[in-house]
Amino acid sequence: MDWAIIGDLLRVAVLAGLVAAGLLTVMIWKKNLATKVTYIRLVVQAAAFATFFLIFSFSIPLLYVLAAIFAMTIVLGRLYCGWFCPFGLLMDLTIMARKVFKIRYRNLPDKFNEVLHQSRYLLLLLFLFLPAALWLIQPPPNIAFATLMAQLLAGPFRPYSILLDPMIPMLVPWKGPLVINQINFSYPYVQEFITYTGQNIGQALAIAFVAVTLAGSFLVRRVWCRFCPTGASLAVMNRFKGFKWSPMLHIEKDEQKCTKCGVCKRVCQVQVTEVYEQKGGRIDTSMCMLCLRCAEMCPYEDALQLKLGSKTVFRSRNWLEPSTRE
Ligand code: SF4
Ligand code: SF4
Repeated sequence: MDWAIIGDLLRVAVLAGLVAAGLLTVMIWKKNLATKVTYIRLVVQAAAFATFFLIFSFSIPLLYVLAAIFAMTIVLGRLYCGWFCPFGLLMDLTIMARKVFKIRYRNLPDKFNEVLHQSRYLLLLLFLFLPAALWLIQPPPNIAFATLMAQLLAGPFRPYSILLDPMIPMLVPWKGPLVINQINFSYPYVQEFITYTGQNIGQALAIAFVAVTLAGSFLVRRVWCRFCPTGASLAVMNRFKGFKWSPMLHIEKDEQKCTKCGVCKRVCQVQVTEVYEQKGGRIDTSMCMLCLRCAEMCPYEDALQLKLGSKTVFRSRNWLEPSTRE
């Protein structure tokens, strides 16, 4: 198929997807369509996937995209991870594939899961500072500071571009590492492996990374999200003291209405335990990516609520019995 036709189809898909996502979002807001959130999220993720393809096909500086997502985090927390990330979509699709084969997912031990989540920050530091340190230790001779900074951000040692990698859709509008019938395919981080370690080692590492992450997310839900450096850096945004009110979008639990049934713990793809364990109030954990699966599946009315500031955007409902609300 012609590349231009694919581009046009994707543009139409973006518009259709955005309209559908908008309509569905209004419907869930107005009608509280609990148990439909997972499907709505899938539509939004598909639209976001196509939108990222479009963004990458225009010459918008990628650091602006990253800055916009960071700014969004202050208000919306890690909503990006749960609803927009292309790599997240890929992992959700592998979860669906696993269901087709009727294979049960594996849960990681809670302690190990927590260690993985904490290790995100180390991985983030390594990703960000190692290339920069290497560049600073051995800079090209007689380089001016401004040029050094420009090369640091845009040159072969592009430490911050690592954070953009999960946003790379599998189809890319540039020469990707894999080209089939003139269609370019990529995968998060594979280009970085090749850039930093050279063609041969880089390709071997890239193939191993693709195999491990696909097999891993087939067995363990959203496995990469547990130590994703982008997710970690978004989470860091909400850790500063001055940002204690942030993110404005968050999950709250009503302890009086919670029956400790444990559904929220079971359905959480990244094994957040706080929703179950915390004694009511604002759920405070950087692991939560606001996918809303817990609030969707919690079978008790108002036990869990998604709040934007003090306004309730979505609430769990008793889907075992008729609602008492109407
Ligand atoms: S699913 Fe709802 S009722 Fe059950 S433990 Fe979680 S918050 Fe409580
Ligand atoms: S705690 Fe709830 S909203 Fe957060 S990631 Fe888990 S299921 Fe999604």
